[in-house]
Amino acid sequence: MLGSLPRTLNVSFILRSVFEREQGLNWLGFESEKDQVTQRTRLSVSSSLSSITTLAEAQDSGERIINLDHGDPTMYEKYWQQMGDKTTVVIPGWQYMSYFSDISNICWFLEPEFAKQVVRLHKVVGNAVTDGRHIVVGTGSSQLYLAALFALSPSDASEPISVVSQAPYYSSYPSMTDCLKSGLYKWAGEAQNFSKEGPYIELVTSPNNPDGTARHSVVNRNKGILLHDLAYYWPQYTPISSPADHELMLFTVSKSTGHAGMRIGWAIVKDKEIAKRMTKFVELNTIGVSKDSQIRAAKVLKAVSDPYEHVDDSEVGETFFDFSYHSMAERWKLLREAVEHSGMFSLPKFPPAFCTFFNQVSEPQPAFAWLKCENDIEDCETFLRGHKILTRGGKHFGVGPMYVRVSMLDRDENFIRFVKRLSTIHV
Ligand code: PMP
Repeated sequence: MLGSLPRTLNVSFILRSVFEREQGLNWLGFESEKDQVTQRTRLSVSSSLSSITTLAEAQDSGERIINLDHGDPTMYEKYWQQMGDKTTVVIPGWQYMSYFSDISNICWFLEPEFAKQVVRLHKVVGNAVTDGRHIVVGTGSSQLYLAALFALSPSDASEPISVVSQAPYYSSYPSMTDCLKSGLYKWAGEAQNFSKEGPYIELVTSPNNPDGTARHSVVNRNKGILLHDLAYYWPQYTPISSPADHELMLFTVSKSTGHAGMRIGWAIVKDKEIAKRMTKFVELNTIGVSKDSQIRAAKVLKAVSDPYEHVDDSEVGETFFDFSYHSMAERWKLLREAVEHSGMFSLPKFPPAFCTFFNQVSEPQPAFAWLKCENDIEDCETFLRGHKILTRGGKHFGVGPMYVRVSMLDRDENFIRFVKRLSTIHV
């Protein structure tokens, strides 16, 4: 019941914000231009209101395991449900049977419609330069990470090139880099401590997984090759400052639209030879990337971009980035309240910055919370596991065990149960 929620855990904030959106009021309570659009989605939004009410009323006996270890983006299911058939794809049995998509393209298995929608979305959002760049599609950006290492490593070196990243770094980098014990590249750990002479590859993840900070390269030596992982450079997570313009940038639908199960990522590559080598890697690895998934991804990206370009706005409803931005804002507010109420934890603070996409100053609201246990608790992961909350401890990210990474992208029910439980943990 609402009354049984901790005093400062403001679930009514969620209810109010959903209500305001339903009423066509913007964040400050003024009437928005999207009034008519909002009218059309009244039905679907109302049903989400009732589901949140039910969630808020859910009892938490403290017994149920709350698993926020993985960054599974199920939070976005609600939005895509509201979009109904807008992104439904039907593929007849005879379609997309060939291995090939466009043999005139360096990336010959790249579906032209998917490439078109990728370029379009980056132009709409303003988060990456695509003009004159090559696009390579991958089975998730995970495959493209390996393709990039393959392409960036010198093929004639006497020893594997070092791969470094500033800690805390994405926990999969070390194991992905070393799983095949490649002769081409080798994980060399924390970039700040890297002192070896010669070439190296530095991974720059911005905003960073796990701690959400904006990142730049830190080694800064002349033989460095940079690989930018921009999985979270989207307006729901961070203010978009300018179109990113790096040699090699990785993106994924997993974190942009939430379609992790589609396993689609893309690389934006300046250098033609690097794009060719990455394509070769995917060819050797999986002989291309599922066309069915690319077609579905194209449809999803199109549905995101259309309302911003006023294409087919007959039944648009709330735009994707409005939904995701406000959902993240609500979640971060609830989490900060829960942390304050508990007194046992702390969270990073992020400087506000101007977002060119929303045309306003906003604060980063990362996909993960980088939570620190205070009060001399040495192992935060074990401590939280004692409260049946599963998170990923700092050692996986190259730092100490007093930190944990918590996914902010789970379904409402799980997230609300989490903040509720966290707020009741006291000394
Ligand atoms: N890079 C980063 C920084 C990530 O957090 C993730 C997903 N957790 C990936 C890459 C992999 O994404 P994908 O699902 O596209 O393989």
